[in-house]
Amino acid sequence: MPPKKTIRTIPQERTPMQAQDPQVRATNFAEVACGYTLEEALREAERCLFCPDEPCVRGCPVEIDIPGFILDITEKNFHGAYDKITDTNLLPAICGRVCPQETQCEGVCTIADTLEPVAIGRLERFVGDMAIAEGWESAPYIEPSGFRVAIVGSGPAGMACAADMAKAGCEVTVYEVFHEPGGVLKYGIPDFRLPNDVIDAEIEKLRQLGIRFECNTLVGRLFTVEDLLTEMGFHAVFIGTGAGYPTFMGIPGESLAGVLSANELLTRCNLMRARDFPAYDTPLQPGRRVAVIGAGNTAMDAMRVCLRLGAETVFCVYRRTRTEAPARVEEVHHAEEEGIEFHWLTNPVEILDDGENSVRGLRCQRMELGEPDESGRRRPVPVPGSEFEIDVDMVVYAIGTNANPILGQTSSLRLNERGYIVTDGSLATSIAGVWAGGDIVTGAATVIEAMGAGRQAAAEMKAYLGLRDSEVVYLPERTGSTGKRFGIDLSEHNHVRVTA
Ligand code: FAD
Ligand code: SF4
Repeated sequence: MPPKKTIRTIPQERTPMQAQDPQVRATNFAEVACGYTLEEALREAERCLFCPDEPCVRGCPVEIDIPGFILDITEKNFHGAYDKITDTNLLPAICGRVCPQETQCEGVCTIADTLEPVAIGRLERFVGDMAIAEGWESAPYIEPSGFRVAIVGSGPAGMACAADMAKAGCEVTVYEVFHEPGGVLKYGIPDFRLPNDVIDAEIEKLRQLGIRFECNTLVGRLFTVEDLLTEMGFHAVFIGTGAGYPTFMGIPGESLAGVLSANELLTRCNLMRARDFPAYDTPLQPGRRVAVIGAGNTAMDAMRVCLRLGAETVFCVYRRTRTEAPARVEEVHHAEEEGIEFHWLTNPVEILDDGENSVRGLRCQRMELGEPDESGRRRPVPVPGSEFEIDVDMVVYAIGTNANPILGQTSSLRLNERGYIVTDGSLATSIAGVWAGGDIVTGAATVIEAMGAGRQAAAEMKAYLGLRDSEVVYLPERTGSTGKRFGIDLSEHNHVRVTA
């Protein structure tokens, strides 16, 4: 039974997390936020009221048993906390770092009406990091079902789907175009926010489940989605190819040397290790004065990478205000601390040529906020006669991404008018035996939403394949209070033989 508490009896202040000094960290790629110590985690866990109606659980896209795992922390049952989290979330060390908790679980935490919410994400990270450090794993013995499943794309959606299908006894192969798996987690989000060794540790757990990763494989060019089901003999396919196709504004000067997309910059720096040039053979000429257009997480990452690559000044150019910026509040705060200069209410109109086909500046105009648009955010309106120039030698676009068209062009998948894959409520696509989820269906979203989609598709795929075992393979009394074992819901328990 959780202890009875009131808002007056719990620690009033949210436990701060140690972070690298802004001046120091702006020159290195080591992680900014250092994580909780044991004492800090125990103190923060004491702040949870264990509310019976559990609003935080409903605020989490995959409905982690949040009060349950926090109670385990208070009882120093850390392995129990890990098991509870991994019942629904495969990647706690990752989600604890990058989920926008302030708008999800923490945004609806009961105590947030009076105090700062319980630091749910930090506690989740604490447990996930401990599991990696201690080498805990939740890989069961799995009896093969005889089914073969192909996953296209190794981001969070593909990883989550792959894990659930592997746990159901399927032989799972993940095809990834890059030379390393992980999707945006690996190529987009920089080490100072999400260290590569954390992602590698989580991917290693997938390998332990028997999942095979076939990298350097561009599906749609080497073979098609239909080939997977026919010539290649897979029984079901999941597509989680994300939305990594860059968007530009179409203003004059975009073909000048020194203009690039944030995705290119981040991929070169993170995945292709341009930051370690010449040890790694990836050139990336950092600008001296850089303007990054946009104010989402991608923009914050691009700006902070430019600083670390040696830029003297980095500007954020965004046509709305800080309030409307889509980036996590913490990321904007960290960027500010590191010395990024923000130009709010500013819209670029032209990239200026130095006469030798390279960037010499950015012409912008001031904006003001008008009526709300269809997204509910106030529409930016140009202020007449307000144009001015910023002296820059590099311009980076971080204004959103689109679906890569290759799969659409090479298969009979139905796409919507924006090029994203059309699915029904069960994430089934227009091709029988093919499901899709994550950013390639919703457009750019979040890690946890992509994972949730991967898991939903896996449940549907299992039902489609008729993965059933007539024997009751695990007994309710062994499953603990969650009604799950190794993350597999009891309602699906006959799908697979699972033993500890
Ligand atoms: P992805 O992660 O994009 O993975 C898709 C994979 O499919 C990629 O590896 C790609 O190479 C591969 N692929 C594509 N086409 C093919 C093909 N034809 N054949 C084989 N492989 C293919 N979300 C958060 O919650 N918090 C954050 O802090 C955050 N920060 C972000 C920072 C950046 C820089 C970016 C770009 C995004 C960020 N996001 C963040 C968003 C989040 O990362 C995405 O919503 C999430 O990764 C989507 O997962 P996915 O599996 O759908 O796709
Ligand atoms: Fe604990 Fe906040 Fe969830 Fe209530 S809403 S159970 S206080 S984390």
